[in-house]
Amino acid sequence: METNPSDKPVKGKSPIQSKVSRYTKPDDTLVNVSGIQIGGSDIVIIAGPCAVESREQLFSTSRSVKAGGAAILRGGAFKPRSSPYNFQGMGEEGLKLLSEIRKETGLPIVTEVMDTRQVELVASYADMLQIGSRNMQNYPLLKEVGMSKKPVLLKRGMMATVEEFLMAAEYILSQGNGQIVLCERGIRTFETSTRNTLDLSAVPMLKRLTHLPVIIDPSHGTGLRWMVPPMAKASIAVGADGLIMEVHYKPEEALCDGFQSLSLDEFDLLMADMKKIAKAIGREIAVPKHATV
Ligand code: PEP
Ligand code: MN
Repeated sequence: METNPSDKPVKGKSPIQSKVSRYTKPDDTLVNVSGIQIGGSDIVIIAGPCAVESREQLFSTSRSVKAGGAAILRGGAFKPRSSPYNFQGMGEEGLKLLSEIRKETGLPIVTEVMDTRQVELVASYADMLQIGSRNMQNYPLLKEVGMSKKPVLLKRGMMATVEEFLMAAEYILSQGNGQIVLCERGIRTFETSTRNTLDLSAVPMLKRLTHLPVIIDPSHGTGLRWMVPPMAKASIAVGADGLIMEVHYKPEEALCDGFQSLSLDEFDLLMADMKKIAKAIGREIAVPKHATV
């Protein structure tokens, strides 16, 4: 294989010490989220609202994304908001609603944990713990989820280099939890026409440097509903193992991130297109599990 500066092991670690590195583990890691595998040949679609806002909002959105083919449900109960006066999420009430709709739909749940003191509580409801961008370098939190037995969705910090991103994953791995999915969600650049600059080149780069699965969040990556479908399709073409997208039954009434949330119909249309792109590159979209009632 040709050598290139980016083929070097993660700085400060020999290849042997860096657990995230492909030098240490050449074969792809499969992350098992309550029966849904991320990192294999199937592309996993995670969809749902930015935040859990009410029973009606969560349930109608979840039923619809399940029917459309999403395999995992997203929804924040604890929300990291830029202003302390904005809706902060429903807290444990939101977690209860998520577990109720999981029972009905069979969809595993990924939800954010923002604080070391919440890990136990969130892990008692969730199938996968999300570490948000703003917490990618919250080392005590990374260590805490590293000690939990739940898979982790680690989002790239908005100012983080690929190397810093990998080191954040290393923190989790160093505590014994290797079930980590990396999520590129856009980085901050001089460009202001989009909310963030979605760094699709991070996908092949990360896939080369690490054995961990890589997914894309085109919702936060662009901040624009109409731009989510083209970037979602590009994500599949560039080799992502999955996508996480915000979908809302009434995007114009959303308490959080309505501008970037797909409507139910838009999500369905996009799913149909994504299936075609997956097929063109010899992959398939993972099929959701049935509910076990
Ligand atoms: C989210 O997924 O709702 C979220 C807050 O994302 P990020 O941490 O990427 O901003
Ligand atoms: Mn959001």
